[in-house]
Amino acid sequence: MAKKELDTRFSKFGTVSFTSITKTNDFVGYLEQGKVMGTKCKSCSIKFFPPRADCYKCLSSDMEWFEVAGKGKLLTFSRLQYGPVGFEGDLPYSIAVADFGDYKVFGRLASGIAENDIRVGMEVKAVVHSLPNGQVNYVFEKA
Ligand SMILES: [Zn+2]
Repeated sequence: MAKKELDTRFSKFGTVSFTSITKTNDFVGYLEQGKVMGTKCKSCSIKFFPPRADCYKCLSSDMEWFEVAGKGKLLTFSRLQYGPVGFEGDLPYSIAVADFGDYKVFGRLASGIAENDIRVGMEVKAVVHSLPNGQVNYVFEKA
């Protein structure tokens, strides 16, 4: 019987990780290099964020990584007064969806952006953020 290896890289992502194994663990390795990455289907060119290992459109598993670069436009945001387990100490904070053209990115707005400055349509960029406990995530900053 082959030894089963546990790939736990995803446990480094975010404040609290609920995922132990995924086919897209390279995502965290890229974050540690300062890059926010999604996946692109090599056969039909559709882009995915969060990264997917399999394309729902053409069912191919032939994927390549691309960097979430440049500016996105804020589509919507929500100010959270209650957070999931592990995020209570960060409240209140804002989550948002930004449109990068041919893909959209869901994420959290950097705490440095004042609540009154948040506007739908504002330009943002996805930036890797290291947490004090050694974890990594990404946030939106003003572009
Ligand atoms: Zn595809």
